[in-house]
Amino acid sequence: VGVFFRPIEKINSVIETYPKGIAGFKRYMTFLDTRPDIADRPGARDVGKLKGDIQYKNVEFGYAAERNILKGLDLTIRAGETIAFVGPSGAGKTTICSLLPRFYEVDGGAITIDGIDIRDMTLRSLRSQIGIVQQDVFLFAGTIRENIAYGRLEATEGEILEAARRARLDEVIASLPAGLDTIIGERGVKLSGGQKQRLAIARIFLKNPPILILDEATSALDTETERAIQQALAELSKGRTTLVIAHRLATIVNADRIAVIDRGVIVEQGDHKELLATNGIYKRLSEAQFA
Ligand code: ATP
Repeated sequence: VGVFFRPIEKINSVIETYPKGIAGFKRYMTFLDTRPDIADRPGARDVGKLKGDIQYKNVEFGYAAERNILKGLDLTIRAGETIAFVGPSGAGKTTICSLLPRFYEVDGGAITIDGIDIRDMTLRSLRSQIGIVQQDVFLFAGTIRENIAYGRLEATEGEILEAARRARLDEVIASLPAGLDTIIGERGVKLSGGQKQRLAIARIFLKNPPILILDEATSALDTETERAIQQALAELSKGRTTLVIAHRLATIVNADRIAVIDRGVIVEQGDHKELLATNGIYKRLSEAQFA
């Protein structure tokens, strides 16, 4: 639970936004460029900012040829909609989400955004459409300012502060010795888990993508931090197509739609009330998880 994208994918997930100027990332870029399986197709094009209508069409996928995880998944997510994926561990929730930024390639079928096959977009322009919040936040040694601007290197101070405010990180920054210029990382100030999460959220506000993937934390934070993060995430997901690998009841209850995944298949769909009324898997799951 909670291991969303494995380390390499994690680097991959953010790489598109700041390859220039940050020396350390060149190495990763080179490394990623040598992955033969996932690369720009000939003729792939840069797409401008998309609306965020997502379609999985008869998607087949397995991590190894003999292990089919998804066997013909059909799923339509409207622009701006929030869909919460729930289901037992290993059901395929993370897998479904990680196919969208093309961390893995589908074996059959297709995924489209605004009707365009994601394989026909350059990886860079595809990934610039998607913000990812996960439990493990990637920070590098440097200032808070640099770490936030990682979502968009050319951002102005005003934009960085605004992103920090919306991410509920402004008070944290104000309390640090050098504000935005405070050095974090091994030789600097160590941020708490909740502060790192908010920093990741600030990055995405700055990047402003139409699509959001949220891998919800399972570890407990203190109530106040938890609330700040929930508020920031609610604001972040507003107006963006949001896919949540959901663990929190509040998230699930508030989602536009819940998709219950079991062994790679959507076994139930609907909102919280509808699903409780059907008296099926969702009801049993929610009783077990949230009692
Ligand atoms: P959880 O709630 O535990 O995170 P999940 O519903 O997100 O589970 P996935 O992580 O998508 O489930 O896993 C679906 C299946 O694919 C599982 O059987 C898992 O073991 C397998 N799997 C996931 N990632 C990989 C990988 N990188 N390589 C091989 N198999 C994997």
